[in-house]
Amino acid sequence: MCGIVGYIGTKEAYPILISGLRRLEYRGYDSAGVAILKDGEITTHKCKGKVSSLEAMIAAQGGNPEGQVGIGHTRWATHGPPNDVNAHPHASDDGQMVMIHNGIIENYGSLRQELSKRGHVFKSDTDTEVLIHLIDDIRKNADVTIFEAVRIALNEVIGAYAIVVMDRNTPDQLIAAKKGSPLVVGIGKDKDYFIASDATPIVEHTKNVVYLDDEEIAIIDARDGFKLMNIKNQEKTPYVQELELKLEALEKGGFEHFMLKEIYEQPRSILDSMRGRLRADKGRVELGGIRDYIQRFVHAKRIIILGCGTSWHAGLVGEYLFEDLARIPVEVEYASEFRYRNPVIFEDDVVIAISQSGETADTLAAIELAKSKGATIIGICNVIGSSIPRATHAGSYTHAGPEIGVASTKAFTAQVTVLTLMALYVAREKGSITESRFHRLLIELDAIPGKVEKVLEKNDQIKFIADHYKSVPNALYLGRGYNFPVALEGALKLKEISYIHAEGYPAAEMKHGPIALIDEEMPVFFVAPRGGAYEKIVSNIQEVKARKGKIIAIVTEGEEQVRSMADHVIEIPDTDECLMPLLTVIPLQLLSYHVAVMRGCNVDQPRNLAKSVTVE
Ligand code: GLU
Repeated sequence: MCGIVGYIGTKEAYPILISGLRRLEYRGYDSAGVAILKDGEITTHKCKGKVSSLEAMIAAQGGNPEGQVGIGHTRWATHGPPNDVNAHPHASDDGQMVMIHNGIIENYGSLRQELSKRGHVFKSDTDTEVLIHLIDDIRKNADVTIFEAVRIALNEVIGAYAIVVMDRNTPDQLIAAKKGSPLVVGIGKDKDYFIASDATPIVEHTKNVVYLDDEEIAIIDARDGFKLMNIKNQEKTPYVQELELKLEALEKGGFEHFMLKEIYEQPRSILDSMRGRLRADKGRVELGGIRDYIQRFVHAKRIIILGCGTSWHAGLVGEYLFEDLARIPVEVEYASEFRYRNPVIFEDDVVIAISQSGETADTLAAIELAKSKGATIIGICNVIGSSIPRATHAGSYTHAGPEIGVASTKAFTAQVTVLTLMALYVAREKGSITESRFHRLLIELDAIPGKVEKVLEKNDQIKFIADHYKSVPNALYLGRGYNFPVALEGALKLKEISYIHAEGYPAAEMKHGPIALIDEEMPVFFVAPRGGAYEKIVSNIQEVKARKGKIIAIVTEGEEQVRSMADHVIEIPDTDECLMPLLTVIPLQLLSYHVAVMRGCNVDQPRNLAKSVTVE
């Protein structure tokens, strides 16, 4: 899941690489490194820790390395612990070539054995180092160009990669290639080229980018320009796109953390997800991205929703929405399980794949599987131009803007918003929803951003509650119906950023196990707005109270019954039951944020996690 950057051109490479690595740090942050080429010499600096540790180390060693070509890496370890030696870049035996890599070389074991026999000496535990030795071996023994050596080597590896190779014998060139992991090349003025895992390090330099496809190899030459090949040695025509990304979207904008900024952006990001799509005034939903496939939805016997983590939780909300409104049976699957369990997939299935980054490795693989069986694949992704939207038949972007905090917040509400629009669109086309309910829901959906603002006004109260529970070792989150996935999401948020053990359950399931955990120490967060199962959840609250659990309840404004039982209540505005997750999740995001800050945790970069999971 590492972040990789490269630069070749007329400017000093080091500052460009470091600021690029800072932007990519959300992808991994257990070690970092750079290599710069000048006058035929490569200087490499790398160390365990964050990009700031790397900068401090370089400053202590005498300051910025000079040179106009270089590569940089921020790592999320897969093979070998995070330490100085395993940090990238990795070098060939003679130090002539260096390489950075994002992904996993699955056949690294057999390759390593063979290369060792041939005299290569391995310094690190990584799979990555195998690939640079392989390239080196081919280059020397076959006496071929660096491009040709990379190309032949990539035909021998199994797994996923985005790589950049720098060679001191061809100082005007960088070779970049990808399969399964993302890679973008920015084309600047005056033969300046930028390479990165995503567009965020590039946007401040140029808006013109080429997203590489799998098995493509870019030969980036400071004199001859940019040439695109594939691993079969065929020349490809690069498709240059213009970035829409705005630089301000990548800054904290006065907030202490990206996560808090992103929580507060939700009135806006939800609106952006609906812009041009929800026409409450005209009584219409328009989803241009799936218009051509709407009949596939209408005639689908089943929808399969694929996702991982928070996207899987959004998918669960999608299940309730599509079954409730469009009357289509839905299965929600972890992409990682789906891809390996020989699932039954029919040609008339519609598969919805959800991923913030659009790069989630398991989701991508699950899409390929479903596609090979003839299903129609629809994507819901946030990052424009990423791999999943390119692998699907059609889809709708969430348009939430860049999400940098590792714990997903605005991406979740944007995904749920798009799922709501899709379910409404399909329900209308199918005739499974009454006109009056359809119109009422459009009006309610239109009002959601304003209601999210109102929930955000509860921040001080939520902070007060967070202070109460910041030291607990465990927490339980319970909800029913549409709010069951919200309970799961609330528990996940707490776990991932504050390291408190938390479980989410459907409230009625409590009696089948988790109730045994309840004592006077255990906080139980009930997501209990008015709606279908309200009376039932009130009974569940009673059951917890009878066992002296601490009750924190999210309730609808003006509600009195739960208030009399709960230790704390957080009121939210009323809306239709099927839109509730868009409101009920907000206090749980804020609560996790405050607890994590109070516990001194690194909210934007929680331990062991990375933002986009580009390895399986
Ligand atoms: N497999 C490489 C390593 O462990 C890269 C990891 C990644 O891309 O996350 O260093």
